[in-house]
Amino acid sequence: MGEKKVRTRLYKLIAAILLTCVSIYGVLRYVSLSVADLYLTSIYDRMEEQAIQYANSFHFKLQADLQTLRAMAGMLQDHQDQEPQELLLSLQGACNASQFIRLGYFEEDGSGFRLTFREEGVVPVALDQLPTELQDVAAKAWAGSSAYSQAFYDSHLDAKVLASATPVYSHEQICGVLVSAVETDVYAQILSSIKAVSPLGTAAIIYNSGNVVASTRVYSLSGFYNLFDSTYLSDEIKAQYGACFADPEVSFFQFVYQGDTCYNCVLPLDTLPGASIVITDTDHGISNAVSEVVRMAYTMVALFALASVAVILAALWMLRRYRADLSQVAYFDRLTGAYNKAKFLLLLEEKLDQPWPCAVVSINIRKFKYRNELFGSADSDLLLKEISDLLRQHIRPGEFFCRDTADRFLLCLKEAEESAVKVRLHALFVHTDQMAGTMHPNYPLYFYCGCAFRADCAGEDPQQELMSHVMMALGIAKQGHQTTISFYNAQLHKQETMQNYMENHMEQALHEGAFHLFLQPKIRLEDGALGGAEALVRWMYNGVAIFSPDQFIPLFEHNGFCVKLDYYMVEQVCRQIRAWLDQGLPLVPISVNQTRLLFHQKNYPQRLRDIAAAYQIPPSCITLEILEGMAMEDVELVQHCVEELHSYGFRISMDDFGTGYSSLNTLGSLRIDELKLDRSFMVQAKQDQKGNHRKILESIIQLSKKMNMTTVAEGVESADSEQMLQALSCDFGQGYYYSKPIPVLEFQQRYLEPSHPA
Ligand code: C2E
Ligand code: CA
Ligand code: CA
Repeated sequence: MGEKKVRTRLYKLIAAILLTCVSIYGVLRYVSLSVADLYLTSIYDRMEEQAIQYANSFHFKLQADLQTLRAMAGMLQDHQDQEPQELLLSLQGACNASQFIRLGYFEEDGSGFRLTFREEGVVPVALDQLPTELQDVAAKAWAGSSAYSQAFYDSHLDAKVLASATPVYSHEQICGVLVSAVETDVYAQILSSIKAVSPLGTAAIIYNSGNVVASTRVYSLSGFYNLFDSTYLSDEIKAQYGACFADPEVSFFQFVYQGDTCYNCVLPLDTLPGASIVITDTDHGISNAVSEVVRMAYTMVALFALASVAVILAALWMLRRYRADLSQVAYFDRLTGAYNKAKFLLLLEEKLDQPWPCAVVSINIRKFKYRNELFGSADSDLLLKEISDLLRQHIRPGEFFCRDTADRFLLCLKEAEESAVKVRLHALFVHTDQMAGTMHPNYPLYFYCGCAFRADCAGEDPQQELMSHVMMALGIAKQGHQTTISFYNAQLHKQETMQNYMENHMEQALHEGAFHLFLQPKIRLEDGALGGAEALVRWMYNGVAIFSPDQFIPLFEHNGFCVKLDYYMVEQVCRQIRAWLDQGLPLVPISVNQTRLLFHQKNYPQRLRDIAAAYQIPPSCITLEILEGMAMEDVELVQHCVEELHSYGFRISMDDFGTGYSSLNTLGSLRIDELKLDRSFMVQAKQDQKGNHRKILESIIQLSKKMNMTTVAEGVESADSEQMLQALSCDFGQGYYYSKPIPVLEFQQRYLEPSHPA
């Protein structure tokens, strides 16, 4: 799964978790609110029932008291003949059964007697001396109805009382009123006796004014305790009580007192106008506990959401770090810290999508391997780092560069003109020169650079086109000396087209035998006899060589096809020698050029041995020409191969000697049989005034002899050259002076057949 996919999934997971948590929260909230609502309703319902029960009990009590009073009035009626004081005293017994604390009897003029049960005897008293509530209720009795008063404080009794009055008849005429008083505490007892309220709760009868008539709670106060005077209740709670008192219906409210939720039910008392039954109760912290549980659930959901999101964010963070680590490995060059080619190509792709003038430059260090050998790899590493640092300083915002391979850097510059690129590269080289000068003053640093512009790429894949243009330009620059900058142009484009053609047709050409074996004789300088021949390939079409090896061999080495071609050439050579031997012609040693790629092939020596064996050719008549530069590349590998080839009998020749940088040490350890002096020796010796090159050539030839190597001079184009080589005791000469490479048949006729002596 790609990183982007993982990231998207993690984000989705976060969203899912948050959504789930929000849903859980929602459900939890809904359920808890519903439960709380239900709970509250059930509490209030219960409280209302209790309140109604209280109201009824209160009502019954009042009615019962009135009833008792009426019965007493009846008794008085029946004994009209007695004095009022005696009558009252006669009621004492009946009173004991009721809860009256005082009885009074008044006549029309307001005079009367009262009987207080806690005291002795009957005392005369005037009605207008008594509390107004009493007078009011007596007035009602005079009017003919039994009634009871509002609660009032009786200072004489030092008690809160409720008075009842009923008329006393004589001959169906009201002759007096009988008044009784009941301590309101009696009602408090009723409230407590119902036991409807939990031990923590209270039930009370309270006037709208706040005066508490009766309460299950005991107030050690003479007179009325007023709710609104309470120092325990806040103004807010008092206001809520006030609102409930004003409400003619049953009403409820709740408040929190000292951490407990107190529920209140206020039921107006029809029996006692202006008063209500007030029940206050707690649920013993149940609702608190429930809300605590709900709160805990909320917290847990929130914690779960937080933890999950944190875990996922951590995963995302780790993913990002992992990606950063990966990209460090995948996109950066370890040595220089610069981008690597993969990253460069990614960035280039982006740039090519933008309208950006773009020049890609490949900068290569000339003779880097040589420097590497000379100064060691640590020094080379330092050099690469320094170059990388300088490049970093020279590129501008938006531009970028990378280290491509060992000694190659790629730059992407925002330039559209050759001249501009040149100016910038020269500015860079001023700094690289300074840097190289400090590192090794006697070894200047040279580069070869290939450059191509985006504007020259019209194909479907501009990136690939651009890069192949750069490589082409680089190939040209490589052929130059010192610091060289080459730009891709139409000429190179032609070459590119040609290369495309060659790549597309090489297999077919091999299959159809278009690669022909040509031979160039090697002449023994001592006596001018044929010493052998070099096999050179020609790509023929209709009897004409259409491409020269210099055009296709580098390409085939690049694309690997050269391996096939060289095996093919070895086979052609063996077949030819076999044919000549079969025709009774002399055995001619033939040299075959071998690409460096062969040395990396598995079983390469065995395969050559098998080919020779297949044609029954002694391997000793085959000389394998390897390039000088190659021996330096991987000494051990070449050495190993050379030894094996030697063991089968093949001869080894070092081609183009003098162009590379082989050390004589390597030469010794490689056990080369033949040294082919590069054509440049002949050219230089010709131009040589002081004779220095001749001396060098002489030393090389002598050294070779000491090392038992035969010497072959390439590029012998004149009799002068031949004479010079003879004077220097060179063994063989090869060149146009004797013959150009020629077809096999021509070679056979000119050099091998008796009728055509050489
Ligand atoms: P080389 O191995 O150095 O071959 C000698 C080249 O110098 C040949 O070029 C030859 O035609 C040319 N030459 C010979 N005498 C003279 C002379 O007197 N003056 C001048 N100016 N040139 C002379 P050719 O055949 O074009 O081959 C070029 C290169 O291509 C060869 O250089 C060799 O490196 C490579 N090559 C040719 N055939 C093969 C092959 O079958 N396999 C491989 N791997 N490389 C091959
Ligand atoms: Ca050669
Ligand atoms: Ca050569």
